[in-house]
Amino acid sequence: MTMRPNSIEARDVASVLHPYTNAAAHRAEGPMVIAKGDGIYVFDTDGNRYIEGLGGLFCASLGFSEERLVEAATRQLRTLPFYHTFGGKANEPGVELAERLLALAPVPMSKVFFANSGSEANDTAMKLVWYYHNAIGKPKKKKIISRQRAYHGVTIASASLTGLPNNHRDFDLPIAGVLHTDCPGFYRYGLPGETEEAFATRCAESLEQLIVCEGPDTVGAFFAEPLMASGGCIVPPPTYYEKIQAVLRRYDILLIADEVICGFGRLGTMFGSDSFGLEPDMMSMAKQLSAGYQPISALMINEKVYNAVVKESAEIGTFGHGFTYSGHPVACAVALETLKIYEERDIVGHVRSVMPRFQSRLSALGDHPLVGEARGRGLIGTLELVRDKASKEPFDAALGIAAHAGKRAQVHGVITRALGDTVNLCPPLAITEAEIDDLFDCITRALDDTH
Ligand code: PLP
Repeated sequence: MTMRPNSIEARDVASVLHPYTNAAAHRAEGPMVIAKGDGIYVFDTDGNRYIEGLGGLFCASLGFSEERLVEAATRQLRTLPFYHTFGGKANEPGVELAERLLALAPVPMSKVFFANSGSEANDTAMKLVWYYHNAIGKPKKKKIISRQRAYHGVTIASASLTGLPNNHRDFDLPIAGVLHTDCPGFYRYGLPGETEEAFATRCAESLEQLIVCEGPDTVGAFFAEPLMASGGCIVPPPTYYEKIQAVLRRYDILLIADEVICGFGRLGTMFGSDSFGLEPDMMSMAKQLSAGYQPISALMINEKVYNAVVKESAEIGTFGHGFTYSGHPVACAVALETLKIYEERDIVGHVRSVMPRFQSRLSALGDHPLVGEARGRGLIGTLELVRDKASKEPFDAALGIAAHAGKRAQVHGVITRALGDTVNLCPPLAITEAEIDDLFDCITRALDDTH
């Protein structure tokens, strides 16, 4: 692409280091500049319209023009644009938001800690695992297990939990004490002739073996995103979490559910934990918490973790953790309004009503010659592209087939995201059935166009 001197594209290339972008390619190709949003659509600076097929990184549950959220932010900016929550300071939207979140929790939770991103919420959870075990007199119980292909963020701790090579390579990660067990993706990791339930048993046995091998008194927690979204929409097989949780209970290991994507209706239940029967000790959430309109995340902790914090405070002093913007009043006001809208519009009910259409259009694409498996749940889905459907032989990685399909999708009016060989879809929750049809018509044309 030739960039006009002084254009926004040229100035971007000259001044911005982009997250999750191939820096070498970006220098040559320049950015796609998004100028505005309306409903499920965004528009580039040339006026081209795109369905945001990924909800703008799994965030924009209510689309891109929800006036009530603009008003909630403006109201709060006029009243108290910023205040912190250190040293016991509070603000009303923060308190009301915490109350609402606790009322929605799938299992009894005690307190909410606010942060700004999913990574920070997961970092906080990891620090609390260590703090908790020190408090209860088990200082050796500090190792943390997550899963291959998991995505939990990019800070040093959360990137260590992440189980994707690209997040570790050349960053000298993961840090010591973070281990990765099997990814529960049956399509890729199930053995020939193995049933899904037998595969689930094998995953749980493998986790148990890892715990026993490391020493159960050294393993403190297991992190799980209920459905692994960024790892390629890995839907766990039936009985998986039942078996995993039995292992965790056997060795007294905390469970942290990462609800950053699954939370707030994505799977047709309020949380992913509700869908799969998870009983976590802590839950991290972000993204749809504020419909993406403000950066905010939250970590819910149960009573036993909270009691450990109280005990440590009494013994060693102030809980030494917190972000300047923890409980930011504007972010909390927007998140609170988001939750009110979810309730008033019964967003979970809406997802349940449109998800059969989404899933039937998705699974129909399983017949496409490029698609090895079409899988999903609720309003999230992925197309795993393969060279050979029968043998599941992947395309040569250098070909970047999914990225290529993603580019064709853009030409046909949909923004999606390629991760490895998968093309991922996760549209705004407010999407209608007619819009779902448009989305899949465009994706079908893009696949037909991908060679
Ligand atoms: N956890 C999950 C499951 C995510 O998908 C993400 C981001 O996509 C994160 C954590 C990290 O969140 P953030 O990018 O806000 O730090």
